Amino acid sequence: MRRSSKDSRAKEKERIFVEIDLGKIERNYNLIKGKVGKEVDVLAVVKADAYGHGIIEVSRRLSLAGCNFFGVSTIEEGIELRKAKIGGRILVLGGILPFDGERSILKYDLTPVVHEIEGLKRLLGLAKRSGKKIPFHIKFDTGMGRLGFMPEEAGALVEFLRNESSLLVDGIMSHFSSSEERDSYGLGQIEIFSKIVDFFRLSGINPKYVHMANTGAVINYPESHFNMVRVGIGIYGTYPSRNLEGALPIEEALSLKGRIAFLKDFEEGSFLSYGRTYRTNRKTKIAFVPFGYGEGYRRELSNCASVIVRGKRCPVVGRICMDWTLIDVTETEAQKGDPVIFLGCEGKERITAWELAEKLKTIPYEIFCGISKSVKRYYL
Ligand SMILES: *Cc1c(COP(=O)(O)O)cnc(C)c1O
Repeated sequence: MRRSSKDSRAKEKERIFVEIDLGKIERNYNLIKGKVGKEVDVLAVVKADAYGHGIIEVSRRLSLAGCNFFGVSTIEEGIELRKAKIGGRILVLGGILPFDGERSILKYDLTPVVHEIEGLKRLLGLAKRSGKKIPFHIKFDTGMGRLGFMPEEAGALVEFLRNESSLLVDGIMSHFSSSEERDSYGLGQIEIFSKIVDFFRLSGINPKYVHMANTGAVINYPESHFNMVRVGIGIYGTYPSRNLEGALPIEEALSLKGRIAFLKDFEEGSFLSYGRTYRTNRKTKIAFVPFGYGEGYRRELSNCASVIVRGKRCPVVGRICMDWTLIDVTETEAQKGDPVIFLGCEGKERITAWELAEKLKTIPYEIFCGISKSVKRYYL
């Protein structure tokens, strides 16, 4: 393990870094596989740099764990995976856009999702020019109100596809508008989708893969699993909604850690940082951490987030700056160089992505994706 000892020395020198426990990612993946059962394939969604976790490292680890299906947003991400020697099917969820080079689909053996007629025509053109049969997944909008053919278009599509033998419908899919709660709208989407799938089959088009469920639906809608589920946030260890916390024994794999650069004592009644938004009400020991909104620690967290220092929760005080965050460490024995946990756990304390997301009125997806690329990722 030459790399890891070199890594740990490099890590010692980082002012701020992300640590990703790939073992947890693998366990989360296996837990989800166990949940959906043997008959259902799990497609790992690794778009947006694997939700900020690192697309290559995450996909390599999942490949080794037996994952054969990956979902990305763009052709570029698909190429990146192939260049890193990731095998299996790579589904390009965003489809083929007008400004994409569709030739890469063939060159890198990518499987595009087709969700509108222009994309279908571009793919057909490519198939004809190359003389190859190109597998793709066809997407229907059953109520999400975003990408996908409308259910009414199914008839015309089937006609079109039956006459085009160079196009191979490898999969048929849809997407929930909100799977974090089980309700009649979601059940309605499943019903519409099932009817479309039946119609395709009765018309002689038999897609190998039928899929609709994301993480929320893996938990809330077992009848939507068909023979494949597309899981993103669950693999990274959290949930699309806070009320699902604990629904699976998954664990967050990402920690965000900084270090105390120096400490300073302030007298009672001192104002701290820009805008004088915080005034000390006692003699206060402040730790300065060189990390701020410039690298993704959002300014709205000023005076409301906590971090962990020496196993204790400590408040973030005063305005978060572009490159500095101030922590009240009066209650600790904090020393220069001590680790500061912005996200993750130490001892009994834990700061989850949901804790930060709630304070920012957002979801963990945005917390993970919001950590700047300039923050180096280290893998356990
Ligand atoms: C991102 C995405 C997913 C994954 O959703 P999670 O909530 O992260 O599990 C599934 N399907 C599609 C089409 C997506 O774009």
